[in-house]
Parts: sequence; structure tokens; C-alpha cells
Amino acid sequence: MDAEIIAVGSELLLGQIVNTNGRFLSQQFAEMGINVFYHTVVGDNDRRLQQAIELAESRADLIVFTGGLGPTKDDLTKETIARHLGKQLVFDEEALRSIEDYFSKKGRIMTENNKKQALVLEGCHVLRNDHGMAPGMVLTQAGITYMLLPGPPKEMEPMFLSYGSQQLQNRLQSKERIESKVLRFYGIGEALLETEIEDLLENQTNPTIAPLAADGEVTLRITAKDESKEKCEALISQVEAEILRRVGQFYYGSNQTSLIQELVKELTKRDMTIAVAESLTGGMFQEQLTTIPGVSAIFKGGVVSYATAVKAKMLHVSEETIATYGVVSEQCALEMAANIRTELESDVGISFTGVAGPEEQEGKPAGTVFIGISYRDGRSHVQSLNLSGSRAQNRIRTVKYGCHYLLR
Ligand code: ATP
Ligand code: MG
Repeated sequence: MDAEIIAVGSELLLGQIVNTNGRFLSQQFAEMGINVFYHTVVGDNDRRLQQAIELAESRADLIVFTGGLGPTKDDLTKETIARHLGKQLVFDEEALRSIEDYFSKKGRIMTENNKKQALVLEGCHVLRNDHGMAPGMVLTQAGITYMLLPGPPKEMEPMFLSYGSQQLQNRLQSKERIESKVLRFYGIGEALLETEIEDLLENQTNPTIAPLAADGEVTLRITAKDESKEKCEALISQVEAEILRRVGQFYYGSNQTSLIQELVKELTKRDMTIAVAESLTGGMFQEQLTTIPGVSAIFKGGVVSYATAVKAKMLHVSEETIATYGVVSEQCALEMAANIRTELESDVGISFTGVAGPEEQEGKPAGTVFIGISYRDGRSHVQSLNLSGSRAQNRIRTVKYGCHYLLR
């Protein structure tokens, strides 16, 4: 099934809002294995919408519309589609009842405009709107499936997830199942990862492997097609095993997850508490930890020791270390990690010290970073990094490397 997404709304063309509906639907279709070849944005204009529909019909067999299902005059999506397909608009009893209920509960007068929202294309499958008034619609005619969704993301997203995607699964022409799995890597660049699996990438047919790099991370999406879910999964796990055999040391998780989430999961599993001493990251590591619900079971706390004097006073980094090696050093990172761990009585201590940039510091270039890790049993190690990003990238990557090293 090849899809085109048509976002309707003049405010999109004027740059007043961003087409997040397009992004959401594209992500969903990628998961479902439906190809999206075009995104179209068109204003609330009958003639131009009509043209966009004709063009989409020439190159897609699934056309998904968002926006323009509301009560106002500029909302014309379903009217235009009805005319184009030669369909009547009829009242959907359930939608009409819920609109009437809404107005009677609020004690407000219902206008004809509001009733208009309950009009649907005759013969369509109605998608219930649990978060608003205008229902969505799905209709297949002459081999093309049309799906109409409301504009507000708070209505559109749950409608698609609860009702829309199921309708599409049912209508997928081939009986083929499509399954995919995303493998996530950190600490390896896209180019190097691709080199490691070059032969797999070149010979791929089923499953296919698609690499994607973003925010210093690389993901591989493996997509398989076969007659059953089990067969797809078997195909995927074969390729997955081969990939992990080669670059497994950089793998941290699959599908929807993040490094910090995996770290919290792992520490919780091992029942290990953590304490943190941060310099160049300014608390970012701890901020990220605390985005995860339940982190209090393993996170003790930490110190943001930005100034050298604070590293000495709060973290007891020795005068000798500061004088001999400076604060951007392996020795300083080790002392910070060990001392925060003993001070807060945690099982592991992690520290971040380095030069975020853009200026150098202590004669060390921007991007020089030391991450110290100290365990209760006496083991400790330091990882040094030479990052080459902007100040913001260097800080974010330092946090991610911290997770990566703790997960290894
Ligand atoms: P309503 O009943 O609210 O009028 P509607 O289905 O008629 O809904 P529109 O009038 O086109 O939808 O848009 C309503 C609001 O939904 C917009 O003001 C905007 O906030 C949001 N919206 C519309 N289209 C998009 C889009 N493509 N991406 C993100 N948000 C959107
Ligand atoms: Mg509207």
C-alpha cells in the first residue's frame, strides 16, 4: 500500500502551525510497513484541494487527510471529497447524539454548524472521535482508500491509534504481514556501523535494513514481510543476531526506548543506586534521570560542581590533582566519581568533567571530556572522549556516553 498524506489548512501554509500530523502519521505508517511517498500541504480552498486529491489518486492507493472536519465555513475537506467521489453527506446518528449531548450538558444552544460535524460520507466506515466532535471516516472506492481525520492532534492521534490503524490493517490488499524492529546503537558512527554490516545492507531483500542517524545515535530498522507474524519475527531475529554478533557492543535497546531509560531499567534490575558529579553537563544527566518515573529507587542525588573551587570544597578533589593535572583530567574525573559515591553512599558514582567549548580550557581543546565511574567494590575507570560538535552537542553526547559506559 502506497500512501500520501494531505494536510489541509491555510494556517500550515502561513507558517502559523507546524505539520506535526504529517510526522505522526508517517511514523505510524513506517511502523506498519506502509510506504509514504508524498506529503502534501494545501490551504482551505476547494479548487486546490480538489487538484491535490486528483494528483494523489494518480500516485497513491491510500490517501489520508487531516484537518478541515470542523464546524466552520473554512472546513471543507469532506464536502470537497464528497463532491469529488460523487457521494452524499449523511448524518451519523452516533456522532449527532454525542454532539447533542455535549450541548445539552453544557446548556448551550446547538447551531446548524455544529450539527454539520456529524455529517459523514455515505457508505463510509465511521471512526469515533473520543476527544472531540467531528468523527473520522474511511472509505474505499475504485481501489483507493480515503481516510479523513480531524486536524487537532489531540483528536487525530488517539482516533488513528484506536480505530484508524485497525481499519487500514483490514484493508491492506495483500494478505502479507509486515513487521519491523528498530535496533538502537550508541558510541559508533553511522559510517562505521554501515561498514561493519555492508554486505548485509547490499544483499538485503527480505528483511530490509534501513539505517538512520540522529542526535549521535544510529538506528537500524529491520522490516520483514511474510504470511504470519511469527514468520516475520523469525526472519528479523536471524538478521538481528548477525548484526549484534558484529556490532553488539554498541547496541543498547530496541524499538521505543532511550539510553537513559535503559540505564534506569538496568540499575533497577541490578538493584544498584547511583550518585552523580557533573561539571560540563551542568546537571543534564540528573535532569534526564529524573524524567523516568520510579527513578527514586536508584537515584540518590548529586552535585553540579562547575567551578574548580566547588570541585575542591564539595567533592574533595585534592589540591594536588588540581595543581598537577587540572580539572579536565582523568585524575579529577576519578576523584569526583569516587567521592560523590562515598559521600552519598551509593553503589556507583559517575562524574563528568571536560571542555564543552567553544573555547579551550587548561590548554585542552573543546570536546575533551573525561567520564569517571566508581563502584562500591573498588573498581573504577575513566573514559576519555574527543568530541567535535558544538557546545550543545558535546554536552548532550557526554550525557549519552555516560549512559553507554554504565550500560556496558
Ligand atoms: P476543528 O473542529 O478544531 O475546526 P478541524 O478538523 O476542522 O478541527 P482544522 O480546523 O483544520 O481542523 O484545524 C484545527 C486545529 O488543529 C488547527 O488550528 C491546529 O491547531 C491543528 N492542526 C490542524 N492541522 C494540523 C497539522 N497538520 N499538524 C498539526 N496540527 C494541526
Ligand atoms: Mg476547523
